[in-house]
Amino acid sequence: VFQHEGPQAVFDLIQRQFTLDQDNLVEITKAFLREFKLGLENYGHAMAMIPSFVTAVPDGTETGTFLALDLGGTNLRVCEVVLHGNKTFSLVQQKYRVSEALKTGEATSLFDYLADSVDAFLTTHATIDYVTPSEDESGKEQPTVHLGLTFSFPVEQTALGSGKILTWTKGFAAKNAIGKDVVELLQDAFDRKHMPVKCVALVNDTVGALLSRAYQAGHCISGAIFGTGTNGAYLEQVSKIKKLEGTTASARGGEMVINTEWGGFNNSRTHLPTTPFDNAIDRLSINPRFQAFEKFISGMYLGEITRNVLVSLIDATPKSLLFEGKSTPALNQHYGLDTSFMSAIEEAWIGTDESQEAFVLPPLGSDFKRENLSPIVAQKLDNIRQVIVKFLGLKGEEVSLKDAALTRWASSLVARRAALLSGTAVATVLIQTERATLRGEGQPPRGLNERIGFGVDGSLVEHYPNFGRILRESLRYLVGEEVEKRVDIGLAKDGSGVGAALAALMALKQG
Ligand code: ADP
Repeated sequence: VFQHEGPQAVFDLIQRQFTLDQDNLVEITKAFLREFKLGLENYGHAMAMIPSFVTAVPDGTETGTFLALDLGGTNLRVCEVVLHGNKTFSLVQQKYRVSEALKTGEATSLFDYLADSVDAFLTTHATIDYVTPSEDESGKEQPTVHLGLTFSFPVEQTALGSGKILTWTKGFAAKNAIGKDVVELLQDAFDRKHMPVKCVALVNDTVGALLSRAYQAGHCISGAIFGTGTNGAYLEQVSKIKKLEGTTASARGGEMVINTEWGGFNNSRTHLPTTPFDNAIDRLSINPRFQAFEKFISGMYLGEITRNVLVSLIDATPKSLLFEGKSTPALNQHYGLDTSFMSAIEEAWIGTDESQEAFVLPPLGSDFKRENLSPIVAQKLDNIRQVIVKFLGLKGEEVSLKDAALTRWASSLVARRAALLSGTAVATVLIQTERATLRGEGQPPRGLNERIGFGVDGSLVEHYPNFGRILRESLRYLVGEEVEKRVDIGLAKDGSGVGAALAALMALKQG
């Protein structure tokens, strides 16, 4: 960062780089729609638009007991789900850590670990009657336990119960897995251990979120994740999925859930206004030039983008612009700052106060003397100072009120951009499914009064204050207030577990 024009010019430049104006949002949505269409036409596009072979959406009356295994986030999760058939369920779950060695080692080791985790879960947590094969001396055949797998990586699915792994994302890179059927890899691991567990369905976490929200709310057209990564699924007309033409699924017609893999939007690097901070993230990532949209949006990256901005201010010459040039191990380390830092900062700033817009800050280039600040603003900045002390490991006296204001400013720039972009993805689904038209492109469809359900999941949307509000601001601009108001965005709690259970049930029904 050069500051021959003074600190304010530096702040203005960074602010401009991260700002998306309304025209940007419209253009991005147009590009998104084009990529949706391309992905529906043929295979091999960055936005994979993967047919899920889920052809119906639950209505809350489904019943049964199933196991669910969820791989693709920060933790591996095993759950037992009991669907009660009245929109409610009960769920027992256990998380297991997936080490870096497993993520990047041989695929068979990873899948053996998955099978071992299911085995451990069944003996210690599940209510299903189960005896570990190694301890079973009766020799009697045990009843089969049906399992749905939530696998949140790009997979080319050929049926509800099979699909080839296309690529790894989110820090996974296990060897000898790409191109293989993930259900077979898992089933082989169960069989090697003689476990009476049968994997019958494979779903992406976004599809799981859609199914689980539909079960719990009675209606839903889309599921979206804003967690470690980001992705979305939605219910599409089979007639629009051109690449399925000639298959039995196509002949059957009706609807099918599509897993968009929208994290790969902008892999061409032509659609999103990009900052030098984004380029650095991408260059140093495990998958440069891939999952471009995800790198602007998701929990895995937002803390790191913010860290890069803060470090650039610390390193500014001729005079540091932050923390008087002091840094800490958390700030110095690649991925040293978790996105939860940003939520904590924002929480400290707005608290439970609804009138947040009323806390007006002086220009960032000014001196931030306490006596010149309103008491409420000084109080909020003191709250932020405490968060900085806690997360970054600086001492209280090393963090000025101005440092607090700058940190919140940087963090909120990064988060706001992510939430606005998330709004373009939601708008794209609404327009693609003919529930809305893009701003400037004719009258919105009339006579539709239906509520439009979106199931969302992930720490970012759950915990970052105002993520939903800013997403809706973007959506309102893109599709108009009339449609935006009818969109119900609800948490798909335990979406991957309940969704996988519902998918397993559908697979059994389909035979
Ligand atoms: P999953 O791995 O299944 O997507 P989460 O939805 O919990 O799980 O997402 C984890 C990601 O969310 C991590 O990248 C982490 O940095 C981020 N995260 C964790 N806590 C918070 C929080 N309080 N606010 C925002 N992001 C968070």
